[in-house]
Order: sequence, then structure tokens, then C-alpha cells
Amino acid sequence: MIFKSIAPPVEIPTVDIPTYFLSAAKANGAKLDTKAFIDIGAQATLTYGQLDYMHNRIASGLVNDFGISKGDIVMIFATNCILYAPTYYGILAAGAVCCTASSAFNASELAYQLNDCKAKVVFTTKQQWLVISQAMDQGLVDIQPHNIIVYGESLPGYLYRSFRSVLSDKPYRRLSIKTKDEAASTPALIVYSSGTTGQPKGVVLSHLNMVSGSTSLNSLAAFLALKSGIKPGSAVQRYLVISPYAHIFGLATFLHNHVANAKTQYILPQYSIDAFLQAIARFKIQATTVVPSILTQIVKHPNLSKYDLSSLQYMACGAASVTKDTLEGVSRLLPASPSQGYGLTEVCGGFTLMSSYLPIAGSVGFHAPNCEVRFVDENGNELGADQEGELCVRGDRVMMGYLNLPEETARVIDGYGFFHTGDIGYINETGHIFITDRIKELIKYKGQQVSTAVKDAAVIGIDDPQRGTEVPMAYVVLDDIANRTDRGRAAMLCMEVQAFVAARVAGHKQLRGGVTTINAIPRNASGKILRRELKTRYLARTNAK
Ligand code: AMP
Repeated sequence: MIFKSIAPPVEIPTVDIPTYFLSAAKANGAKLDTKAFIDIGAQATLTYGQLDYMHNRIASGLVNDFGISKGDIVMIFATNCILYAPTYYGILAAGAVCCTASSAFNASELAYQLNDCKAKVVFTTKQQWLVISQAMDQGLVDIQPHNIIVYGESLPGYLYRSFRSVLSDKPYRRLSIKTKDEAASTPALIVYSSGTTGQPKGVVLSHLNMVSGSTSLNSLAAFLALKSGIKPGSAVQRYLVISPYAHIFGLATFLHNHVANAKTQYILPQYSIDAFLQAIARFKIQATTVVPSILTQIVKHPNLSKYDLSSLQYMACGAASVTKDTLEGVSRLLPASPSQGYGLTEVCGGFTLMSSYLPIAGSVGFHAPNCEVRFVDENGNELGADQEGELCVRGDRVMMGYLNLPEETARVIDGYGFFHTGDIGYINETGHIFITDRIKELIKYKGQQVSTAVKDAAVIGIDDPQRGTEVPMAYVVLDDIANRTDRGRAAMLCMEVQAFVAARVAGHKQLRGGVTTINAIPRNASGKILRRELKTRYLARTNAK
């Protein structure tokens, strides 16, 4: 059965991203001096007027000085900062495609993505510049320093370009999209995701994908608010941003939706639970988005009452599964109950929302209009309400495809146009969606993706109750029998694997769940790893301890 949204369909504007979101900001009350971004760390502010002015100057610089033309790829490798949004909109206004890279990347992770997407120009911060220069020194990338633009003034002796030197007043030909076909066939964004298997892949999203994703989610939110008796145009204005703009969750929520809604975003560049709570109290923050591990930190906080959190009215939680106990725990402690949402990079981020209309703890809520869902069993048979299977989604928000990987794309988008999420769940009679498991090989550490890459081993995600998140854990098969029988040697080898991985990957990908030996990795007839069996084995052993 195919399930439509409980909210009525909405008309999707067929324009480019900068035109749509920046015009929406004006239509929703953003004046030239309305504060758009405030960097709490750097104590810097950017108004909506400056956002408009600056993104045009960046676009002009890219077109006129860097020769960027339609379809070229430009990367942003930066932590959240007030220059992120003007850069993003500038890249798109120039007709280029923006590829975002996680600021947590080390040199080899960055090199993998940079070489894969072949970005011509990179915008970065001073800190991330060190990672790029390390990749250049090691010969991992061949981008030229004069195509790297570093925020802030340039330092003597460095060959990269300073941000200021890129800004140009010359006229340029701005991207302009007017038809649905153009909007659907013009790529806007490349965000990397592991998808259901293997190495990270570039998810290519069009202007239509993102405009549709945002319009339909906003429309669902408005529909649910109306049903809950909340008047349209709520007073919520001040948002706290901790989600990285580089990840689809942060990008779609903050660079798109909250810009379109003319909100003010307070950027907390360095997250810690106390800095987060302090910022809410100090700036009278009214709304924020979190990942489940932050909710766990709130529940376990030894001294929450020292912060005045009374301004908080709304908290959205997404990017990974959250337990009912945690949600209820936070609701008891804070004035705002967290509402869950669910989504993936391949469908422009969140497309479901739970609200105070017919709330069910544990559900990820209702799906947005203009997108259909269905659930299928492992043979591809369509299932009905309350039957558990793989969640599939169809609609304008489904990605154009994986960059240069037509076979991978064909594997996840079926002949009916449904994208197979790799997540298991069901929908009930009232239209509530539940996510119960995952068949894909993805692990999420504090909302960030970890793709499994260790050879002759299997990596699973295990729950770490202390950290309130999943952590990666590896089972390794040691090919030398002697190593397996000598327990001390085997333990040493496991530690070496853990250290080997730790030295090569960003913090969130480390094997915090440990490394354990196993005689053989369980696989099905076609050789696919039976991760569920490994998880069952892990749970049985942990419970027996
Ligand atoms: P990403 O593409 O990084 O956004 O990762 C998407 C994946 O995160 C989904 O396919 C799910 O496995 C997981 N995910 C996102 N939101 C939720 C949620 N609310 N509950 C459970 N899993 C989630």
C-alpha cells in the first residue's frame, strides 16, 4: 500500500535555491538590519541585508575571478560560522554546485571527498586550512593553493586567497531557474553519505529537491500546528545552532528553513553540554535542534537547575533514533518537549515530524505532503499498515542520484521511483511512522555517519548507555590460529586495530565500542554480513556478564 501524507499537497515553486529562500526571508519580515546570524564564539553578527549583499559579491568573485561556471563544484570545508551562509548562497547564485565537507575530517578523509567531487575551489577556515595543507604536503590532493579561500586575513608567506580578496562588485550572470524541468535537472548540492553500504558517496540534490523538501516540511509543520491549536506565525525568533551546516540536517533546517522564515540564529561553534545550556540561558533561546546524545546528556546532567531554560519553547530531535525514556525524561526537565523527526541525506533531510497533535512517544511522526511512503518486505512485496518492512519514499525530494555512480543509484531507487532507505519500520492506521531497525551498514555516532571500512572484519553499532549514543564496535577474524588461542596476543591485536583506526579517522568514527575477536563473520548465502546476528551475539554476551 502507498501512504500519502495526512497534510494536503502543496504547490512547489520552481525557482533556484537562492531566489526562493532569500526572497522568502524578505516576504517573512526580514529587514536589512534584522540579525540573521550571531556567532557566539567570535562575537560577530551578520544581518539579512549583509547576507544579501555579500552572497552577490562572493558569486561575482567566483564567476569573474575564478572562472566558475554553471555546474562547477565548489566545496565548503568549515565549522559553522557567520560566513557559511553567504558562501553557500554565493556559490549557488554563481550557478555552481556546493559540496559540503565535515569540519571533523582529517587529511585523508578530506582528500577522499575532494578527489571524488573534483571541487575547483574550496572555502575554509584557518583551522581546516591546516588539514588541507597536510593533505597537500602528503600529495593526497592536487588542488592549487590559489584556489583555496581562507576566512579572515591572509598570513604572510601563505599562498591561499584571503576571503576579502574574493569579494567582487563586478556584474555577473546570476543563476536563474524558471521551469520545473530546469529546477529538477540542475544540481545544487553534493552532501556525502554512506547510503546503505560501503564508502561515502556524493548525494547529488537538485534545486527542485531542496525547494520541495523545505516547502513540504514547512507545510507539514504549519498543518500540525493548526491541528494542535497553535496560531500561525509563532513568536519563536531566536534559534541556537549546534548542528553542523555541512550535514543535511543542519543545512536544510538552518541554511534553508530558518533563513526563509527570517529567524535569528545563534551559532555555538564549539559544543559542550554546559556551553549549550549556558547559551540558551544567556541569549533567551526559544528553539533549537539536537541529536539524541544531547538529550541523554540533559537527562544525566548533575546540575541542570543552575541554568534558566525557561525561554525554550521548541526542540527538534533527529539524525538518529532516540528512546522513549529519554524523550520523556527531557520533557519532565525542560519547558519544551523534544519532537522527533526522521530523514536522510538522499531525501533532503527530515521529511517526518512529530508534534503535539496526536503525539505518540517513539514515533517519528507524520510524513510531509508531496511525498509518498511504502513499506516492503525482503522480497520487495508491498506491506500494509502496521506491517514491518523497509521504508521507501517517493516524491520531488528524492535525490538526483549518487555522484558518478549510476549503478549504486539504480540499486536504491526502484522502477517506480521509490527510494529505498535501508531503514526498517512501519506506519500505523493514524499515519504515524515508526523506525525500528536498520538493514544498512551505517552506524551513527552522535548523529554523524560512520561507514564501515575495516577489512576481514565487521563493524556494528552498539548502544552505549553512558554516552547515550550508538558507538562503532568491530568484530575481527584473526587469520592466525595461534593468535586466536593466545588470548593475551589476541587482545593486543584488538587494541592495535582500535589504535590503527583511531589514528586514521575523525573522532566520531573511532571504535569506541571496542574490538573483539570472532571465529567467522556470519554471512548469508550471497555473502552479506548478518549484522543482526552479531548484535544478538553481542547482547547475549553483555547480558550474561
Ligand atoms: P543521514 O543521511 O546522515 O541524515 O543519515 C540518515 C539515517 O539516520 C537514516 O537512514 C536513519 O538510519 C538514521 N536516522 C535519522 N533520523 C532518525 C530517527 N529519528 N530515528 C531513527 N533513525 C534515524
